Amino acid sequence: MGDERPPESPDGAVVKFPVLLVMLGAPGAGKGTQAREIANWLCVPHISTGEMLRDAVERGTVTGKRVRAIMESGALVPDDLVCTIVEQRLSQPDCERGFILDGFPRSVHQALFLDGLLKSTHRGSVRVVNIRVDRDSVLKRLTGRRMCPKCGAIYNIYFNPPRRDSVCDLDGSSLVQRGDDTEEAVGTRLREYERQTKPLIERYRHMGALRAVDGNADPKTVREAIVRVLKAS
Ligand code: ADP
Repeated sequence: MGDERPPESPDGAVVKFPVLLVMLGAPGAGKGTQAREIANWLCVPHISTGEMLRDAVERGTVTGKRVRAIMESGALVPDDLVCTIVEQRLSQPDCERGFILDGFPRSVHQALFLDGLLKSTHRGSVRVVNIRVDRDSVLKRLTGRRMCPKCGAIYNIYFNPPRRDSVCDLDGSSLVQRGDDTEEAVGTRLREYERQTKPLIERYRHMGALRAVDGNADPKTVREAIVRVLKAS
């Protein structure tokens, strides 16, 4: 295993390991961006169920074929399928020092499953960061998002447009929109969030595990707020 010392910040406070962190928040709240950076900083895996499922779709696996249309519509894929994927991933050795979960759990069933899994593997309970963002910003962040299929650069036609319409500044490729970032699919994703995922906020608050951060700020400020939460708990 790697270095066991917790990362130290300039003020000397440390983060306790294992880091079992769940990122909650509406689609477009910035969970993925933050989870990736925090995971890099702590040297623990960033586990995004959305990315794992998109990867399965791209590779054309059995799972991928099963979930493709569901994901494009913006609906949630069946709990059992996602729970199996997460169980397999969390059993990998690189999760021993912890993990950052992004996009899981997304329903009460999934949250209960995660509790059971962590209990049966004697790993303690999760800390949860809820990234809160105004609905209008979320709509613009998602429907305005465009990606370069070649280098992965991300733009937004409202906040961070490319210099030339629909063309990547870095390599000139034509930008694409994620299949579930269309207005219709975004509407479904937000409804699913309200119906299935929002109840988790109350649940984790009752358990004393929830900390909220303001996701309307710029990414660096949001990241600093999350780091403060991690060091304080
Ligand atoms: P976002 O949080 O912006 O909606 P994600 O990349 O996390 O994006 O998820 C994309 C899609 O993948 C979801 O709309 C859903 O169809 C599927 N998905 C991801 N995670 C889960 C999950 N835990 N349960 C069910 N479906 C999921």
